[in-house]
Amino acid sequence: MAVYNPKSLKAEEFINDGEILETLRYADAHKDDTELIDRIIEKAKLRKGIDHREASVLLACEDEEKLKEIYALAEQIKKDFYGDRIVMFAPLYLSNYCVNGCVYCPYHAKNKHICRKKLTQDEVRDEVIALQDMGHKRLAIEAGEDPVHNPIEYILECIDTIYSIKHKNGAIRRVNVNIAATTVENYKKLHDAGIGTYILFQETYNKKSYEELHPTGPKHNYDYHTEAMDRAMEGGIDDVGLGVLFGLELYRYELAGILMHAEHLEAVHGVGPHTISVPRIKAADDIDPDTFDNGIDDETFCKIIAIIRIAVPYTGMIISTRESKSVREKALRLGISQISGGSKTSVGGYVEPEPEEENSAQFDVSDQRTLDEVVCWLMELGYIPSFCTACYREGRTGDRFMALCKSGQIQNCCHPNALMTLEEYLVDYAGPKTRAIGEKVIEKELLNIPKEKVRAIAAQHIDDIKNNNKRDFRF
Ligand code: SAM
Repeated sequence: MAVYNPKSLKAEEFINDGEILETLRYADAHKDDTELIDRIIEKAKLRKGIDHREASVLLACEDEEKLKEIYALAEQIKKDFYGDRIVMFAPLYLSNYCVNGCVYCPYHAKNKHICRKKLTQDEVRDEVIALQDMGHKRLAIEAGEDPVHNPIEYILECIDTIYSIKHKNGAIRRVNVNIAATTVENYKKLHDAGIGTYILFQETYNKKSYEELHPTGPKHNYDYHTEAMDRAMEGGIDDVGLGVLFGLELYRYELAGILMHAEHLEAVHGVGPHTISVPRIKAADDIDPDTFDNGIDDETFCKIIAIIRIAVPYTGMIISTRESKSVREKALRLGISQISGGSKTSVGGYVEPEPEEENSAQFDVSDQRTLDEVVCWLMELGYIPSFCTACYREGRTGDRFMALCKSGQIQNCCHPNALMTLEEYLVDYAGPKTRAIGEKVIEKELLNIPKEKVRAIAAQHIDDIKNNNKRDFRF
């Protein structure tokens, strides 16, 4: 039997089933242990995180008073690390050809009625122009796994195309990549193509369930999938994004698993995950989410988000348009730092809406508002929508990004960057209502830049964006 070892490079040792089961037993045994829960909360208040066992005890806890404390702490940590900034992005679906058999995904190879599509480079260009015209600067590209239709060369060509398009004042300045687990050599190529984060959802950390949920195709190989982030880091990518698809397995197993994965990356590479995503299964062509037994309600979902927030304070958290406006609102408060807006999950969906008989979408979108509506809504809730992509362009990736977080300089760096990129959005893309609200937000928030010199430079840049048609400033 495999023995738990966070430093091991073997999937079954760093995501160890025995350790997870023991963690869940420990959490059950201590879920009413107020003294222990208090000690864990005190440790979390130091803002250096808590481990998978401690987090699992908090997840098992049902005491209303303690839960209130946990939520309040999550909100406070969110504020301390991320201020009111929310980073905006959109997914771009390149191809839904797929050779895998994932039973929850409409791209599965046996699905004969989904419309298979793959964007040509001209179509990529049209999609990117549509995304730029909405105001997006940061994309996550998505594709099924298919070595014939979507080989790495195709993905690399798309990345080149995306970065090359300069339409009006638009530009995509960061391309994150969500494609299937691959080789070190291919990760090197993605790194050299200038990607931001490499994102790969584990789907489930439970090996047995994983193998049943991925009955055929290369994705069936649990070890290869689970060890992908180590290969990505070996290939030079030091910002990686984790996620599980909630609904497939018991959520308590998944929380312990994802935190063990984060601990493993920290132990081996000296840097934890850049982001954690929290997708839940949605209805899609050929997929009925009710056939999966482990769906979680909104309350549990928010509890998980709050606990991840305090467990890994330096890790960004992402929520997509799989979630409704009201769930997103709660989740933002408890820990989410990045959201998508105006998303389409169909291949080619930004240029024109898909006729129903041609459905190529990956899942139904719950939040169907436009990007402008989302931006306006965020500001009405007191947030600062940020289109910033500065960090990786300034070489602040991996531990260098973490160093910025830990130095307390975020308010002198991320905050002005958020305001300057928001100003670009307001001038180039916002509707009149959003612009009016946004200008007020910027005026007020400029005063919250601590260093006088930085404040003066940011104010000058904002004036240059507004009055001199200048763009792309960053600290
Ligand atoms: N093919 C790549 C891979 O295997 O990782 C890219 C993944 S896919 C384009 C992005 C993610 O969508 C998947 O990792 C999965 O978690 C999620 N997904 C698949 N089917 C879904 C569904 N029915 N509802 C919600 N999310 C889904």
